[in-house]
Amino acid sequence: MSENNNHDNSGYEEVCAVCRRTESVAGKMVKLQEGLSICSDCLQKSFDMIGEMSANGQLDDLTKMMGNAGMPSVMPSGEKKDEPDKEGEEKKEEKKSSKESAPPLFLNLGSIFGGQNPNLERTRIKKKERKEGDPPLIDIKKVPAPHKIKAMLDEYIIGQEHAKKIISVAVYNHYKRVATQTMDEIEIEKSNILMLGPTGCGKTYLVKTLAKLLDVPLAIADATSLTEAGYIGDDIESVLSKLLMAADNDVERAESGIVFVDEIDKLAKKQDTKSRDVSGESVQQGMLKLLEGADIEVPVGSTSKNAMVPLTTVNTRNILFICGGAFPDLEEIIKARLSKQTSIGFNGELKDKFDKEKDLLKRVTVEDIKKYGMIPEFVGRLPILCPLEGLNEEMLAEILKEPKNAILKQYQKLLALDEVKLEFDDSAYRAIAKKAMERDTGARALRAIIEEFMLDIMYEIPKDENIGKVTITGDYIEGKGGPLVEIRTMETPKEEKE
Ligand code: ADP
Repeated sequence: MSENNNHDNSGYEEVCAVCRRTESVAGKMVKLQEGLSICSDCLQKSFDMIGEMSANGQLDDLTKMMGNAGMPSVMPSGEKKDEPDKEGEEKKEEKKSSKESAPPLFLNLGSIFGGQNPNLERTRIKKKERKEGDPPLIDIKKVPAPHKIKAMLDEYIIGQEHAKKIISVAVYNHYKRVATQTMDEIEIEKSNILMLGPTGCGKTYLVKTLAKLLDVPLAIADATSLTEAGYIGDDIESVLSKLLMAADNDVERAESGIVFVDEIDKLAKKQDTKSRDVSGESVQQGMLKLLEGADIEVPVGSTSKNAMVPLTTVNTRNILFICGGAFPDLEEIIKARLSKQTSIGFNGELKDKFDKEKDLLKRVTVEDIKKYGMIPEFVGRLPILCPLEGLNEEMLAEILKEPKNAILKQYQKLLALDEVKLEFDDSAYRAIAKKAMERDTGARALRAIIEEFMLDIMYEIPKDENIGKVTITGDYIEGKGGPLVEIRTMETPKEEKE
């Protein structure tokens, strides 16, 4: 069956037409015909199936069925069975000529196992080959030092000093590890990160900013949409497909990218459940391989592994995994642990001492997270704990004005195009921050609040050519008055742009 074809196959892997695994994963392939190979597992499976069918007397039925569907016969050519159906007879005639030239094909395995197009073109996936002397993908000299990474993050992220420091060091070490590719006995361990912090405190934003600054591909996935393979939802490998897409299908670039899995706390082991936990603990189990570093088959250009989608192999060894979650009620676990500790010692302190302590999350330990419902193997593969603080009113006010692309700066720029100056007085910042605090969704509330009142401004201002400046006040935010509008004067002629 196997023979060399005319194509130049150098640099490409064979892909099994049934299970879509590549040669490096499934082992040597058997070539059925031009552009159609099958791995030995699938071939064996098909032989077993034919054997079983023949023992049960189902082979004739299958032959008829395939004859009607225009598929090649199960019987080797020459051993023709009587075929009463005339239509089937005609089709056989049609097939005959092509069968004579092609090697005998007993079954279209692809259409039986994978339900795919019988005329499927062989999927060719570029083998990754790095020769000695190739320039390194990550140049250690180009990875900024931790203090530089933090300084860059400072331009965008308000507060979270501790978290920014942890991340900067972790990321620096990670890329140092990638760059050196240590293979000697001192292997630097992976520094995957677990971020904990309330919603809207900047977890996703921090990771996004980081990836942008480092110019590495980033994939963001939601843990709640992941399920164990075979169940409704995204397979765990889909996070790597997203990464591959972010890297423009460049496997090598993807292999040194960042994957952020949000809402990881939702994977906590469910208590008192008798049914199979396909979206919680099992997903944690499924992610272990990824986190640690393994060769994973990833569909290219799609997040689902159906038979039509080509696969490639992505090694996750150098991918930085950052998991994030709000972990509600984790503080209760921390508090319980701390008060237990203190009540045992001689310096026993009041149990409610920790009730008032803010940012208890900073004292989180691996034990607390295990207690929360994350399995030990999972937590073990995220060695860096990075707690973030909840944002207070001042921080929210700062987020409005300080970051490089602060939301109010964006509005100012928009109005500047109409040659109108937009200003906010201090009371306005405070009023917006106060309102946002009430919503309890961190900095996410800011945009919603601003959009509410800016709608009127953005609608009304362009109506009147004479308006040169608008000042938003706290009273306006609180609904007690209007914005201060100044008419264009000789000092602010229309040409004078912001
Ligand atoms: P979460 O912690 O839930 O992942 P996000 O990172 O998605 O929250 O934050 C939502 C938005 O709020 C971000 O897009 C960003 O604009 C803003 N934001 C949140 N935290 C900060 C922060 N510390 N500094 C600056 N902007 C922030």
